[in-house]
Amino acid sequence: METMPLVPDYIAALHPYQPGRSAEEVARQYGLSRVIKLASNENPLGPSPQSVEAVRQAAASLNIYCDGGHSLRHVLAREYDVKVENVIAGSGSEAIISNIIRTFLCDEDEVLTTEAAFGGFQVLARSRGVRYRTVPYDQWRYDLPGLAQAITDNTKIIYLANPNNPTGTFFSKQEFDAFYRHVPERVLIILDEAYFEYAKDNPRYPDSMNYRYDNVITLRTFSKVYGLAGARIGYGFAHEELIANLLKVKLPFEPSTPAQAAGIAALEDRAFLHRSLESNVRGMCALTRILKNLDIEYVPSQANFVMTVWPSAEQAAATVEGLLSQGIIVRPLAAWGLPRCVRISVGTEEEIEALEPALAALHATPL
Ligand SMILES: *Cc1c(COP(=O)(O)O)cnc(C)c1O
Repeated sequence: METMPLVPDYIAALHPYQPGRSAEEVARQYGLSRVIKLASNENPLGPSPQSVEAVRQAAASLNIYCDGGHSLRHVLAREYDVKVENVIAGSGSEAIISNIIRTFLCDEDEVLTTEAAFGGFQVLARSRGVRYRTVPYDQWRYDLPGLAQAITDNTKIIYLANPNNPTGTFFSKQEFDAFYRHVPERVLIILDEAYFEYAKDNPRYPDSMNYRYDNVITLRTFSKVYGLAGARIGYGFAHEELIANLLKVKLPFEPSTPAQAAGIAALEDRAFLHRSLESNVRGMCALTRILKNLDIEYVPSQANFVMTVWPSAEQAAATVEGLLSQGIIVRPLAAWGLPRCVRISVGTEEEIEALEPALAALHATPL
């Protein structure tokens, strides 16, 4: 590939993030009056009304620079009974991942994770130009013993999402502990718990706040169950020395004032959290029932989406296109390296019900 001498090879080799198609775009393309977006694991109930009100109020002080996440860090420290020095806030958990990569990775270091890991992490890690190594899934779950074996003298960061996106699977505390015994202290583990709230009531799901280790950073987000994906607000917990160094690198004025206000308000809006989780349970039941009825292979999920697995890449792509033409946007996973897989986010029960006739219509006309 011919590139400008200004661009390092590892940047030239990247592809810009492809956002899921917007509802407006699909409505226009297919001449549809209603489009259902089940592509980006967003909260189908919208944002918390209290967050919307908080953003409105925060708008009055847009002329003033932000406090760098200070207010949210205090709220979270109180809520989780940790020190403020153990908490960081950022413009989404991806911004925190970006800071982790800039803070801790040196040129010879390696990053280790699963195959087809969360796209956001892949892009950020690869943009640093360091070696990026992966271990295949074991029945769509992290192969933690395989990851432990793959650690080398150069491994610096291990990324684990629990529950995982896009597979929806999770690992237990026992599995994590067995893995952790093999991880040297010089390795930083990122535990991305973007879907924590959906899994937390499963007795086998480990809340990493209950097993703090000095080389583990826990990441959480307001983008999913709190319905604030567009606000860009996330947070993390770690040893105070790790946080202190992240704060040296972080953009001083992230997160934005409205984003932080939205996050703080969302934490207080327990009723909205409860409603969102209930809606997800109903939508998840409907979705898995439909997939079973239609004999479509899927991976049982602990999050707000389900990964379906198709006999061929062609069938997966045809399903995505066929649903699009009927006004339903789902997420093909070819770009993540899983061409036979399609991820479907859990919408409202009513949105999910619309999937059944749409999928059945495609099912009736095999390729
Ligand atoms: C959605 C998601 C996030 C959220 O990222 P934000 O930057 O907070 O919006 C993080 N990790 C995973 C695995 C996700 O699926």
